[in-house]
Amino acid sequence: MAPLMASLAASANVSASPLLIVWAYRRTGKFAFHVLTGALESAPDLVHVPVEFGNGVDAVVAAIEAGRSRGQRVLVGWSFYSPDFAQMTRELHEVRRRTGDHLVVHVAGGVHASAEPLQTLRAGFDLVAIGEGELLVLDLVRTLLRGGDPRTVAGIAFLEDRGSELHKTELKRNGKALRPSLDDFPPCAPAHRRHGPIEITRGCIYACRFCQTPYFAGANFRHRSVANVQQWVRYFVSIGFRDFRFLTPTSMSYGTSGAEPSLAAVEDLLATVRAEIGPERRLWFGTFPSEVRPEHVTPAALALLKRYVDNRALILGGQSGSDAMLQHSKRGHDVASIERAAALCLEHGFVPHVDFLFGMPGESEGDVEATLALMDRLVAQGARVHGHTFMPLPGTPFRRAAAGALTPVLRKRLLQLASQGAVYGQWEQQETTALEIAAWQQSEVVARPRHLPS
Ligand code: SF4
Repeated sequence: MAPLMASLAASANVSASPLLIVWAYRRTGKFAFHVLTGALESAPDLVHVPVEFGNGVDAVVAAIEAGRSRGQRVLVGWSFYSPDFAQMTRELHEVRRRTGDHLVVHVAGGVHASAEPLQTLRAGFDLVAIGEGELLVLDLVRTLLRGGDPRTVAGIAFLEDRGSELHKTELKRNGKALRPSLDDFPPCAPAHRRHGPIEITRGCIYACRFCQTPYFAGANFRHRSVANVQQWVRYFVSIGFRDFRFLTPTSMSYGTSGAEPSLAAVEDLLATVRAEIGPERRLWFGTFPSEVRPEHVTPAALALLKRYVDNRALILGGQSGSDAMLQHSKRGHDVASIERAAALCLEHGFVPHVDFLFGMPGESEGDVEATLALMDRLVAQGARVHGHTFMPLPGTPFRRAAAGALTPVLRKRLLQLASQGAVYGQWEQQETTALEIAAWQQSEVVARPRHLPS
């Protein structure tokens, strides 16, 4: 399949298409654009539509102007997480200022836009693509190609002008886009040479109250089959990849529909990948960009990982040293399971990197002390701490909570541990971002809907 897509796209004539797609291609949304581009490459009627990756305002403006000079209609796609909303909005306004609106449609997708379509539209985007993008982008591009109204596409939200005052604009949602099966689409964009980790699972059965994943991608697991992963791994080997990473909300849940891991399914996956890549290439699993839930760490699971993977660090989702906070956030495990998992990792030759989330809603001084004590115990045994500050993310049950804040005691201890190399993470920057996100939840409208070009 991949070579076919590559040859078809290579033969595409950029100026012959009436439509140009420009991705506002920023770091945090890049893998989403790879998958969307891969979906377009896999549709025989759309593979010839030109796609440009514009990294930054200048590149997006240049791509739009080139398309417009050829007389093309231009679809500009934006995809971002909540912490990047303000920056992406500033970039949108700058692109608009420099290019004008004629025959250019700006569409925002991703977890933030899906959770906050009204806010996103009022920030100035023409359309919001709600939910997962593979099927929606095909529908949207086909509609634009035939000169249709993109607002009729399933999953698209837009503002309808109800009067002369801004607060009279009304959100209209055109149903929901269907959720795809992962096997039906590439995990990358082969013809455009855009690759990344192979997504093996989407959606999550755990409903941690601070996390956007289950609220965006559904509270069940959808897995890419082993045969499909094998096909893509084989392709990646053929183009010279040496490192193989996977994207999943919870690594050891591969192949299951419930909370109990299936070691047989994980082994089937890892053994297949290892057979494809041989001993000389590297297989990363249970580490960046994915993690392992602590209660899934058992001697048998670790022995299995050790047989197949190259990483000797595992990222464990710990989040708090307080059982009360773990329960409040619906993590589904207790503090003892975090300590047990870390100890087992060390016993089996893996360094545990334990994720912590500071400043969750309702956290008391006692909870903070319990977290500090757990971090100290883990670090003393040889674990590392990956620190985060709680952000009230749109779409989650905690979206209305106050921004996470570090207590002076916690801040001091984190800085001490960081100077020893035992703690790393973006907790300081996230404290500022959390305040910004909390402020947006209260903020007022900033832009009007505009007439969409047809
Ligand atoms: S934090 Fe992890 S386990 Fe919890 S809902 Fe999010 S992805 Fe699932």
